[in-house]
Amino acid sequence: MTATIGNFNPGPAALPRPVLERICEGLRDFEGTGISILETSHRSPEYRRVHEGAIEALRQLLGIPPDYAVLFMGGGATLQFALVALNLLEPGRPGEYAITGRWSQKALQEAQKALALLGSDYAVRAIWSSEATNFDRVPRPDELSVSPEASYLHYTSNNTIAGTQFHYIPEVPEGALLVCDASSDIASRPLEVERFGLIYAGAQKNLGPAGVTVVIASPEALERSRARAKPLPSLLSYEAIGAKNSLLNTPPVFAIYALKLVVEHYLREGGLPALAERNERKARLLYDVIDRSRGFYRGSARPESRSRMNVTFRLPSEELEERFLSEAEREGLIGLRGHRSVGGLRASLYNAVPLEAVRALAEFMREFQRRYDYGCG
Ligand SMILES: *Cc1c(COP(=O)(O)O)cnc(C)c1O
Repeated sequence: MTATIGNFNPGPAALPRPVLERICEGLRDFEGTGISILETSHRSPEYRRVHEGAIEALRQLLGIPPDYAVLFMGGGATLQFALVALNLLEPGRPGEYAITGRWSQKALQEAQKALALLGSDYAVRAIWSSEATNFDRVPRPDELSVSPEASYLHYTSNNTIAGTQFHYIPEVPEGALLVCDASSDIASRPLEVERFGLIYAGAQKNLGPAGVTVVIASPEALERSRARAKPLPSLLSYEAIGAKNSLLNTPPVFAIYALKLVVEHYLREGGLPALAERNERKARLLYDVIDRSRGFYRGSARPESRSRMNVTFRLPSEELEERFLSEAEREGLIGLRGHRSVGGLRASLYNAVPLEAVRALAEFMREFQRRYDYGCG
Protein backbone atom coordinates (compact mmCIF):
# COMPACT_ATOMS: atom_id res chain seq x y z
CA MET A 1 0.00 0.00 0.00
CA THR A 2 1.45 3.37 -1.11
CA ALA A 3 1.23 6.28 1.28
CA THR A 4 -1.56 8.67 0.35
CA ILE A 5 -0.25 11.71 -1.51
CA GLY A 6 -3.61 13.20 -2.40
CA ASN A 7 -6.98 12.58 -0.69
CA PHE A 8 -9.71 13.65 -3.14
CA ASN A 9 -12.60 12.11 -1.22
CA PRO A 10 -15.95 13.86 -1.78
CA GLY A 11 -16.96 13.90 1.91
CA PRO A 12 -16.05 13.08 4.57
CA ALA A 13 -12.98 14.63 3.10
CA ALA A 14 -9.41 15.75 3.77
CA LEU A 15 -8.65 17.67 6.98
CA PRO A 16 -5.60 19.90 7.49
CA ARG A 17 -2.70 17.77 8.79
CA PRO A 18 -1.63 20.14 11.62
CA VAL A 19 -5.22 20.18 12.85
CA LEU A 20 -5.37 16.38 12.94
CA GLU A 21 -2.30 16.44 15.19
CA ARG A 22 -4.01 18.89 17.55
CA ILE A 23 -7.16 16.75 17.58
CA CYS A 24 -5.10 13.71 18.59
CA GLU A 25 -3.77 15.69 21.56
CA GLY A 26 -7.27 16.70 22.60
CA LEU A 27 -8.40 13.09 22.36
CA ARG A 28 -5.76 12.06 24.91
CA ASP A 29 -5.74 15.06 27.20
CA PHE A 30 -8.10 17.93 26.57
CA GLU A 31 -6.38 21.20 27.51
CA GLY A 32 -4.54 19.80 30.51
CA THR A 33 -7.70 18.46 32.19
CA GLY A 34 -6.29 14.92 32.15
CA ILE A 35 -9.41 13.63 30.35
CA SER A 36 -10.35 13.35 26.68
CA ILE A 37 -12.59 15.85 24.85
CA LEU A 38 -14.81 12.77 24.31
CA GLU A 39 -15.27 12.47 28.07
CA THR A 40 -15.93 16.15 28.74
CA SER A 41 -19.37 17.40 29.83
CA HIS A 42 -21.06 19.74 27.39
CA ARG A 43 -21.97 21.89 30.41
CA SER A 44 -18.37 22.25 31.63
CA PRO A 45 -16.60 25.62 31.40
CA GLU A 46 -13.90 23.96 29.24
CA TYR A 47 -16.43 22.84 26.65
CA ARG A 48 -18.23 26.20 26.85
CA ARG A 49 -15.03 27.84 25.65
CA VAL A 50 -14.86 25.40 22.74
CA HIS A 51 -18.51 26.04 21.80
CA GLU A 52 -18.23 29.84 21.97
CA GLY A 53 -14.82 29.70 20.30
CA ALA A 54 -16.20 27.71 17.36
CA ILE A 55 -19.03 30.22 16.85
CA GLU A 56 -16.64 33.14 17.15
CA ALA A 57 -14.18 31.63 14.68
CA LEU A 58 -16.96 30.99 12.15
CA ARG A 59 -18.25 34.55 12.57
CA GLN A 60 -14.77 35.87 11.88
CA LEU A 61 -13.93 33.57 8.96
CA LEU A 62 -17.26 34.03 7.14
CA GLY A 63 -17.93 37.65 8.16
CA ILE A 64 -21.30 36.77 9.70
CA PRO A 65 -23.25 39.91 10.76
CA PRO A 66 -23.78 40.19 14.55
CA ASP A 67 -27.58 39.95 14.28
CA TYR A 68 -27.37 36.56 12.48
CA ALA A 69 -27.41 33.37 14.59
CA VAL A 70 -24.89 30.56 14.16
CA LEU A 71 -26.47 27.20 15.05
CA PHE A 72 -24.93 23.75 15.43
CA MET A 73 -27.33 20.95 14.58
CA GLY A 74 -27.37 17.19 13.96
CA GLY A 75 -28.96 15.28 11.08
CA GLY A 76 -26.62 16.49 8.35
CA ALA A 77 -27.55 18.78 5.51
CA THR A 78 -30.26 16.24 4.68
CA LEU A 79 -32.32 17.12 7.76
CA GLN A 80 -32.18 20.77 6.71
CA PHE A 81 -34.03 19.91 3.49
CA ALA A 82 -37.18 19.36 5.58
CA LEU A 83 -36.43 22.00 8.23
CA VAL A 84 -36.16 24.80 5.69
CA ALA A 85 -39.77 24.14 4.64
CA LEU A 86 -41.04 23.56 8.20
CA ASN A 87 -39.48 26.75 9.56
CA LEU A 88 -39.57 29.18 6.65
CA LEU A 89 -42.65 28.49 4.51
CA GLU A 90 -45.52 30.94 4.86
CA PRO A 91 -49.12 30.05 4.00
CA GLY A 92 -50.08 30.95 0.43
CA ARG A 93 -46.46 31.69 -0.46
CA PRO A 94 -44.62 28.83 -2.18
CA GLY A 95 -41.04 27.85 -1.52
CA GLU A 96 -39.24 27.92 -4.87
CA TYR A 97 -36.32 25.68 -5.88
CA ALA A 98 -33.57 25.84 -8.48
CA ILE A 99 -32.87 22.20 -9.38
CA THR A 100 -29.21 21.91 -10.31
CA GLY A 101 -28.36 18.40 -9.13
CA ARG A 102 -29.23 15.40 -6.96
CA TRP A 103 -28.96 17.37 -3.74
CA SER A 104 -31.34 20.12 -4.81
CA GLN A 105 -33.76 17.44 -6.06
CA LYS A 106 -33.60 15.82 -2.63
CA ALA A 107 -34.08 19.19 -0.95
CA LEU A 108 -37.33 19.63 -2.88
CA GLN A 109 -38.51 16.04 -2.26
CA GLU A 110 -37.93 16.30 1.48
CA ALA A 111 -39.70 19.66 1.56
CA GLN A 112 -42.66 18.04 -0.23
CA LYS A 113 -42.84 15.39 2.51
CA ALA A 114 -42.68 18.13 5.15
CA LEU A 115 -45.80 19.76 3.64
CA ALA A 116 -47.90 16.97 5.15
CA LEU A 117 -47.02 18.38 8.58
CA LEU A 118 -48.02 21.92 7.62
CA GLY A 119 -51.42 22.01 5.96
CA SER A 120 -53.04 22.54 2.58
CA ASP A 121 -52.15 26.19 2.02
CA TYR A 122 -48.40 25.49 2.00
CA ALA A 123 -46.53 24.62 -1.23
CA VAL A 124 -43.11 24.13 -2.79
CA ARG A 125 -42.16 24.00 -6.46
CA ALA A 126 -39.24 23.88 -8.89
CA ILE A 127 -38.76 27.03 -10.97
CA TRP A 128 -35.72 25.90 -12.97
CA SER A 129 -33.96 22.60 -13.71
CA SER A 130 -30.98 21.35 -15.70
CA GLU A 131 -31.96 17.69 -15.26
CA ALA A 132 -32.64 17.29 -19.01
CA THR A 133 -28.94 17.89 -19.71
CA ASN A 134 -27.63 15.79 -16.78
CA PHE A 135 -27.19 18.82 -14.55
CA ASP A 136 -24.31 20.10 -16.67
CA ARG A 137 -24.87 23.73 -15.68
CA VAL A 138 -26.48 26.18 -13.26
CA PRO A 139 -28.90 28.87 -14.48
CA ARG A 140 -27.70 32.22 -15.77
CA PRO A 141 -28.92 35.08 -13.54
CA ASP A 142 -31.56 36.06 -16.14
CA GLU A 143 -32.99 32.51 -16.22
CA LEU A 144 -33.92 32.44 -12.55
CA SER A 145 -37.06 34.39 -11.88
CA VAL A 146 -38.48 34.05 -8.40
CA SER A 147 -42.21 34.86 -7.95
CA PRO A 148 -43.03 38.04 -6.03
CA GLU A 149 -45.10 35.96 -3.59
CA ALA A 150 -42.44 33.29 -2.90
CA SER A 151 -41.58 32.42 0.72
CA TYR A 152 -38.01 31.74 -0.30
CA LEU A 153 -35.68 30.64 -3.08
CA HIS A 154 -33.67 27.52 -2.25
CA TYR A 155 -30.53 26.75 -4.25
CA THR A 156 -27.41 24.60 -3.97
CA SER A 157 -24.35 26.82 -4.38
CA ASN A 158 -22.06 23.94 -5.35
CA ASN A 159 -23.30 20.72 -6.92
CA THR A 160 -20.99 18.14 -5.41
CA ILE A 161 -22.04 15.29 -7.71
CA ALA A 162 -22.39 17.08 -11.06
CA GLY A 163 -19.40 19.37 -10.51
CA THR A 164 -21.12 22.70 -11.15
CA GLN A 165 -21.16 25.85 -9.04
CA PHE A 166 -22.96 29.19 -8.91
CA HIS A 167 -20.49 32.02 -9.51
CA TYR A 168 -23.05 34.66 -8.50
CA ILE A 169 -25.65 35.13 -5.76
CA PRO A 170 -29.25 34.90 -7.06
CA GLU A 171 -31.59 37.88 -6.65
CA VAL A 172 -34.85 37.45 -4.76
CA PRO A 173 -37.85 39.81 -4.53
CA GLU A 174 -38.41 41.88 -1.38
CA GLY A 175 -39.89 39.65 1.32
CA ALA A 176 -38.55 36.35 -0.06
CA LEU A 177 -35.65 34.74 1.80
CA LEU A 178 -32.60 33.46 -0.06
CA VAL A 179 -31.78 29.97 1.28
CA CYS A 180 -28.57 28.19 0.34
CA ASP A 181 -27.28 24.66 0.76
CA ALA A 182 -23.57 25.52 0.87
CA SER A 183 -22.43 22.10 2.12
CA SER A 184 -19.67 21.65 -0.41
CA ASP A 185 -18.38 25.19 -0.93
CA ILE A 186 -18.90 27.04 2.36
CA ALA A 187 -15.71 28.88 3.39
CA SER A 188 -14.09 28.24 0.01
CA ARG A 189 -14.42 31.87 -1.13
CA PRO A 190 -15.70 35.20 0.23
CA LEU A 191 -19.48 35.39 0.64
CA GLU A 192 -21.89 38.27 1.33
CA VAL A 193 -23.73 36.59 4.20
CA GLU A 194 -26.06 39.59 4.65
CA ARG A 195 -27.78 38.77 1.36
CA PHE A 196 -29.02 35.42 2.68
CA GLY A 197 -32.02 34.46 4.77
CA LEU A 198 -30.42 31.14 5.71
CA ILE A 199 -27.24 29.23 4.86
CA TYR A 200 -26.62 25.63 5.92
CA ALA A 201 -23.75 23.21 5.45
CA GLY A 202 -22.78 19.79 6.74
CA ALA A 203 -19.27 20.23 8.16
CA GLN A 204 -17.67 17.19 6.55
CA LYS A 205 -16.54 18.78 3.28
CA ASN A 206 -14.96 22.14 4.02
CA LEU A 207 -15.21 22.70 7.78
CA GLY A 208 -14.41 19.56 9.75
CA PRO A 209 -15.54 16.01 10.43
CA ALA A 210 -19.06 14.62 9.97
CA GLY A 211 -21.54 15.01 12.81
CA VAL A 212 -22.36 18.70 12.90
CA THR A 213 -24.27 20.94 10.51
CA VAL A 214 -23.68 24.69 10.57
CA VAL A 215 -26.80 26.84 10.12
CA ILE A 216 -26.48 30.60 9.69
CA ALA A 217 -29.86 32.21 10.26
CA SER A 218 -30.91 35.80 9.59
CA PRO A 219 -33.19 37.63 12.04
CA GLU A 220 -36.05 37.22 9.51
CA ALA A 221 -35.54 33.45 9.36
CA LEU A 222 -35.57 33.19 13.17
CA GLU A 223 -38.70 35.34 13.32
CA ARG A 224 -40.53 33.09 10.82
CA SER A 225 -39.47 30.06 12.83
CA ARG A 226 -40.76 31.69 16.04
CA ALA A 227 -44.08 32.72 14.52
CA ARG A 228 -45.17 29.22 13.34
CA ALA A 229 -48.92 28.73 13.72
CA LYS A 230 -48.23 25.19 14.98
CA PRO A 231 -45.08 25.15 17.11
CA LEU A 232 -42.43 22.69 15.92
CA PRO A 233 -40.77 20.08 18.14
CA SER A 234 -37.81 21.89 19.72
CA LEU A 235 -35.02 20.09 17.86
CA LEU A 236 -36.66 20.93 14.52
CA SER A 237 -37.02 24.63 15.30
CA TYR A 238 -34.32 27.17 14.41
CA GLU A 239 -35.82 29.55 16.92
CA ALA A 240 -35.77 27.02 19.80
CA ILE A 241 -32.20 25.93 19.07
CA GLY A 242 -31.05 29.52 18.66
CA ALA A 243 -32.68 30.55 21.96
CA LYS A 244 -30.54 27.93 23.76
CA ASN A 245 -27.39 28.74 21.75
CA SER A 246 -27.39 25.17 20.31
CA LEU A 247 -27.18 23.68 23.83
CA LEU A 248 -30.80 22.59 23.98
CA ASN A 249 -29.56 19.01 24.23
CA THR A 250 -26.11 17.40 24.01
CA PRO A 251 -24.43 18.85 20.93
CA PRO A 252 -21.92 16.81 18.87
CA VAL A 253 -19.09 17.90 21.16
CA PHE A 254 -16.25 16.26 19.27
CA ALA A 255 -17.32 17.49 15.83
CA ILE A 256 -17.66 21.07 17.13
CA TYR A 257 -14.24 20.84 18.81
CA ALA A 258 -12.65 19.70 15.54
CA LEU A 259 -14.53 22.31 13.51
CA LYS A 260 -13.21 25.07 15.80
CA LEU A 261 -9.63 23.93 15.24
CA VAL A 262 -10.15 23.71 11.46
CA VAL A 263 -11.71 27.17 11.22
CA GLU A 264 -9.01 28.75 13.42
CA HIS A 265 -6.41 27.12 11.18
CA TYR A 266 -7.99 28.73 8.09
CA LEU A 267 -8.04 32.11 9.84
CA ARG A 268 -4.31 31.79 10.52
CA GLU A 269 -3.73 30.87 6.87
CA GLY A 270 -5.22 34.19 5.74
CA GLY A 271 -8.97 33.54 5.77
CA LEU A 272 -11.31 33.41 2.79
CA PRO A 273 -9.27 35.53 0.34
CA ALA A 274 -6.27 33.19 0.75
CA LEU A 275 -8.45 30.06 0.55
CA ALA A 276 -10.26 31.33 -2.55
CA GLU A 277 -7.03 32.08 -4.32
CA ARG A 278 -5.59 28.66 -3.57
CA ASN A 279 -8.82 26.88 -4.49
CA GLU A 280 -8.93 28.69 -7.80
CA ARG A 281 -5.35 27.70 -8.60
CA LYS A 282 -6.06 24.08 -7.68
CA ALA A 283 -9.11 23.88 -9.94
CA ARG A 284 -7.31 25.61 -12.81
CA LEU A 285 -4.53 23.00 -12.72
CA LEU A 286 -7.02 20.21 -13.46
CA TYR A 287 -9.24 22.08 -15.93
CA ASP A 288 -6.11 23.02 -17.88
CA VAL A 289 -5.16 19.36 -18.21
CA ILE A 290 -8.71 18.54 -19.35
CA ASP A 291 -8.87 21.41 -21.86
CA ARG A 292 -5.47 20.61 -23.33
CA SER A 293 -6.09 16.88 -23.65
CA ARG A 294 -7.63 17.14 -27.16
CA GLY A 295 -10.72 15.31 -25.95
CA PHE A 296 -9.05 12.48 -24.01
CA TYR A 297 -10.48 13.95 -20.81
CA ARG A 298 -13.99 15.35 -21.16
CA GLY A 299 -15.27 17.72 -18.46
CA SER A 300 -18.85 16.90 -17.39
CA ALA A 301 -19.82 20.50 -16.60
CA ARG A 302 -20.18 23.36 -19.05
CA PRO A 303 -17.18 25.69 -18.72
CA GLU A 304 -19.15 28.70 -17.38
CA SER A 305 -20.65 26.55 -14.58
CA ARG A 306 -17.53 24.62 -13.58
CA SER A 307 -17.04 23.96 -9.89
CA ARG A 308 -13.82 24.88 -8.11
CA MET A 309 -14.55 22.24 -5.50
CA ASN A 310 -15.49 19.11 -7.48
CA VAL A 311 -13.90 18.58 -10.88
CA THR A 312 -15.90 15.94 -12.80
CA PHE A 313 -14.65 14.32 -15.99
CA ARG A 314 -14.83 11.23 -18.20
CA LEU A 315 -12.35 9.19 -20.21
CA PRO A 316 -12.93 7.60 -23.63
CA SER A 317 -14.19 4.32 -22.08
CA GLU A 318 -15.33 2.92 -18.75
CA GLU A 319 -12.49 0.44 -18.95
CA LEU A 320 -9.97 3.29 -19.07
CA GLU A 321 -11.76 4.96 -16.17
CA GLU A 322 -11.30 1.83 -14.05
CA ARG A 323 -7.65 1.67 -15.05
CA PHE A 324 -7.23 5.36 -14.20
CA LEU A 325 -8.68 4.75 -10.72
CA SER A 326 -6.51 1.75 -9.91
CA GLU A 327 -3.29 3.29 -11.24
CA ALA A 328 -4.01 6.57 -9.43
CA GLU A 329 -4.53 4.66 -6.21
CA ARG A 330 -1.20 2.91 -6.68
CA GLU A 331 0.37 6.41 -6.90
CA GLY A 332 -1.30 7.41 -3.63
CA LEU A 333 -4.05 9.48 -5.27
CA ILE A 334 -7.33 8.33 -3.75
CA GLY A 335 -11.06 9.16 -3.69
CA LEU A 336 -11.39 9.87 -7.44
CA ARG A 337 -14.40 7.69 -8.31
CA GLY A 338 -17.42 9.71 -9.49
CA HIS A 339 -20.71 9.45 -7.59
CA ARG A 340 -22.45 6.12 -8.17
CA SER A 341 -25.42 7.90 -9.80
CA VAL A 342 -23.33 9.43 -12.61
CA GLY A 343 -20.10 7.40 -12.95
CA GLY A 344 -16.91 8.86 -14.38
CA LEU A 345 -14.30 10.54 -12.24
CA ARG A 346 -14.38 13.31 -9.70
CA ALA A 347 -11.60 15.12 -7.90
CA SER A 348 -12.83 16.97 -4.81
CA LEU A 349 -10.54 19.90 -4.05
CA TYR A 350 -11.88 21.15 -0.73
CA ASN A 351 -10.03 23.69 1.44
CA ALA A 352 -7.82 21.09 3.15
CA VAL A 353 -6.51 19.54 -0.10
CA PRO A 354 -3.01 20.99 -0.58
CA LEU A 355 -1.83 22.51 -3.86
CA GLU A 356 0.97 19.91 -4.08
CA ALA A 357 -1.58 17.08 -4.04
CA VAL A 358 -3.41 18.64 -6.98
CA ARG A 359 -0.11 19.18 -8.83
CA ALA A 360 0.62 15.48 -8.38
CA LEU A 361 -2.82 14.58 -9.77
CA ALA A 362 -2.43 16.91 -12.77
CA GLU A 363 0.94 15.33 -13.53
CA PHE A 364 -0.54 11.84 -13.18
CA MET A 365 -3.34 12.79 -15.62
CA ARG A 366 -0.86 14.03 -18.24
CA GLU A 367 1.26 10.93 -17.82
CA PHE A 368 -1.78 8.64 -18.02
CA GLN A 369 -2.81 10.25 -21.30
CA ARG A 370 0.70 9.82 -22.73
CA ARG A 371 0.43 6.11 -22.02
CA TYR A 372 -3.14 5.40 -23.12
CA ASP A 373 -4.13 7.98 -25.72
CA TYR A 374 -3.89 5.98 -28.95
CA GLY A 375 -6.82 7.64 -30.68
CA CYS A 376 -6.31 11.35 -30.56
CA GLY A 377 -2.64 12.00 -30.82
C1 LIG B 1 -22.94 16.11 0.96
C2 LIG B 1 -24.06 17.02 0.64
C3 LIG B 1 -25.33 16.91 1.24
C4 LIG B 1 -25.67 15.81 2.22
O1 LIG B 1 -25.08 16.04 3.43
P1 LIG B 1 -25.35 15.10 4.69
O2 LIG B 1 -24.63 15.85 5.76
O3 LIG B 1 -24.78 13.77 4.38
O4 LIG B 1 -26.81 15.04 4.92
C5 LIG B 1 -26.29 17.85 0.92
N1 LIG B 1 -26.04 18.83 0.02
C6 LIG B 1 -24.85 18.95 -0.59
C7 LIG B 1 -24.63 20.04 -1.57
C8 LIG B 1 -23.83 18.05 -0.31
O5 LIG B 1 -22.64 18.17 -0.92
